Amino acid sequence: MVVSLEEEPMASSPTTTSFKSCKCAHGDTATKEKKRKYELIRYDELPEWLKDNEFIHGYYRCEWPMKETLLSIFSIHNETLNVWSHLVGFLLFLCLTIFTAMVIPRDGSSRSSSIGSWGDLMGMANMTVALRHDALAACLLLPPSAAAAGLSEDDQQICPPNTTSSLSRHHHAIQIQDQDDGAALVAALAATSDPVTRWPLFAYLGGAMVCLLTSSACHLLLCHSERAAYLTLRLDYAGIAALIVASFYPLAYYTFLCAPATQRLYMSLITALGAAAAAFSLVPAFQAPALRPLRAALFSAMGASGVVPIAHKLVVYGGTAPGAVASAWYEALMGAMYGLGAAVYAARVPERWAPGRFDLVGHSHQLFHVFVVAGAYAHYLAGLEYLKWRDVDKC
Ligand SMILES: [Zn+2]
Repeated sequence: MVVSLEEEPMASSPTTTSFKSCKCAHGDTATKEKKRKYELIRYDELPEWLKDNEFIHGYYRCEWPMKETLLSIFSIHNETLNVWSHLVGFLLFLCLTIFTAMVIPRDGSSRSSSIGSWGDLMGMANMTVALRHDALAACLLLPPSAAAAGLSEDDQQICPPNTTSSLSRHHHAIQIQDQDDGAALVAALAATSDPVTRWPLFAYLGGAMVCLLTSSACHLLLCHSERAAYLTLRLDYAGIAALIVASFYPLAYYTFLCAPATQRLYMSLITALGAAAAAFSLVPAFQAPALRPLRAALFSAMGASGVVPIAHKLVVYGGTAPGAVASAWYEALMGAMYGLGAAVYAARVPERWAPGRFDLVGHSHQLFHVFVVAGAYAHYLAGLEYLKWRDVDKC
């Protein structure tokens, strides 16, 4: 249903407070009132600094006091779903971070002292993709005489009979020379089974949470004042840059684990590019509505530059490391999600086709947010593929 411009879309917000000076069109008459309700207004009543998308006709907040602006997170307006879509995304990534920290071992020191708990880990392996690679890693390292090393029968039953013979195929650096030497085996197992460091994955999760939270805050607070819009929009752009930069860290770190110079080159380049984009976004003219395609192009180009290390990864490891290919599929899915989101954002569809009809639900920015969360989750799954790969196949 098309919302008519003649209608007052929302008669009032739930909050009522003393009216303070307001540059919005409704303020001219309202200044004569001591008390009034804060109303949602139409696009043509907005001050220039709040005008962004002429295809969204109504349900705008304008220069509400901070208290009412904050409380509007619980009311209906044209930013409600923009706020909540990324707030829910932030909570999702907070849960993923806690899950990753608690369920997936973070470093070798804690793991190497608890070989007796392998059986417990094996039992949990069916629960998560992330843990199944631990089970595989253990199986590949178990020699036929595993019992001599003090491992329980339960531990051995996890591994198919032919799994241990694949040890040589996986090019482990540590060769077990004497399989009857239990002490040597335990030491070798502990050293080889140390999980690769998790910090690049946590850096990514942190970048995603920063992006989603700053975006949500921006959509909630932007309408408060021109100053608030200036600050929160820059925070929003910086958050996007943080997400893109952090997205490169697992890709570059785990892929080029055995080529430190290449690893550092990619990570330095994307960090510098992200800092440049964040700095450029500080220019006031950058947020002009006319520059919407340029904004989309800048951040899209940053994200698209990930094609280079991904192609590099496939050339070097595509034929030998299944983890390289699996992570690339998730990265392709992520790229598709981000690409679709950027296209929708720049084109302002579907509201362009039916102005006013998608004011509350379904306009391009909401779709863009959904694509961003979906793309970020696909990238997290790519991160788990990297752990599966590099926990077993180190340099
Ligand atoms: Zn947004």
